[in-house]
Amino acid sequence: MLNFWRCITALIWLVLIWLHGAAQAEPRPSPKVVFVIVDGIPADVIERVATPHLDAIATVGAYARAQMGGPVGEPGETPTVSAPGYMSLVTGTWADKHNVYENYNLSPNYDYWNIFRVAKAVNSAMKIGIFSTWTDNRTVLLGEGQPGAGDWRFDYVADGFEEDEERFPPQPSDKHIAVIDRVVSEEAASAIVEQGPDLSWVYLQHTDDVGHEQGDGEAFDAAVMEMDVNVGRIWRAVKARQANLSEDWLVIVTTDHGRDALTGRDHGGHSERERTIWIATNSHRLTPGFDEMPEIVDIYPSIATHLGITIPEQVARHLDGASFIQ
Ligand SMILES: [Zn+2]
Repeated sequence: MLNFWRCITALIWLVLIWLHGAAQAEPRPSPKVVFVIVDGIPADVIERVATPHLDAIATVGAYARAQMGGPVGEPGETPTVSAPGYMSLVTGTWADKHNVYENYNLSPNYDYWNIFRVAKAVNSAMKIGIFSTWTDNRTVLLGEGQPGAGDWRFDYVADGFEEDEERFPPQPSDKHIAVIDRVVSEEAASAIVEQGPDLSWVYLQHTDDVGHEQGDGEAFDAAVMEMDVNVGRIWRAVKARQANLSEDWLVIVTTDHGRDALTGRDHGGHSERERTIWIATNSHRLTPGFDEMPEIVDIYPSIATHLGITIPEQVARHLDGASFIQ
């Protein structure tokens, strides 16, 4: 009889151990990231204008003011200009490393690996996408397909619309890019729903064009609201994906620089309004550092953390930022 009870006890233990193992073996949701750069929207504007879709993202995660421009008066000082801003985000370094100081005459230093190159190097099965105006973002800043830049390729590309005069006949630049931004966001949303790229960049330009032409005011506010509708399209795509699949999406929406305080038409300098950017994210694994003025260069290591990528040591040691995701 004693043996019988010993057998039963052993059996119960075996079942418990098996159940525990089965629970642990449940696969983790696949991590995915989409980051959106909306061009040149100062923090005071994004906080004042009604942006219900951005608010919906930040309600799940958080919103914080952040900083662009690097350490003033030191080698890393970086102009509050678009291309230097994107490069600081995608390489996690300031301009003294990535070497992009303006929007034209670009000669990026590809020694500082961008986040897409790292993703492909660490796991070549990872699917990456770009949805953007300004084809230079892909071909020049990121150096897609160039042997000197690591010779990697995007899996999903929707860009170059600004050069397609048949589909997008020329009209005043602000209206032209507004139409293209909508298409870019539609392309991004359908790629997310249908393909679910592991890492993608969406870039929306329209707000900066209106800022340069009109400065602060009603037209700029209206462009910000249009941007919000485009971001809403991407957010809906992510939610649809998460509802049906075991995926863990990180959404980051940010801007590349602010604007001057006097007119809102210009940027490039280091005034407080030009340097003050913002980040909205759905992440609820944020470090306390997220609320202490993170910098644009902190986004790169945060993306890597979410994706579970171990950044190669020769890349990691040059990074100027730190992850705000735990
Ligand atoms: Zn810009």
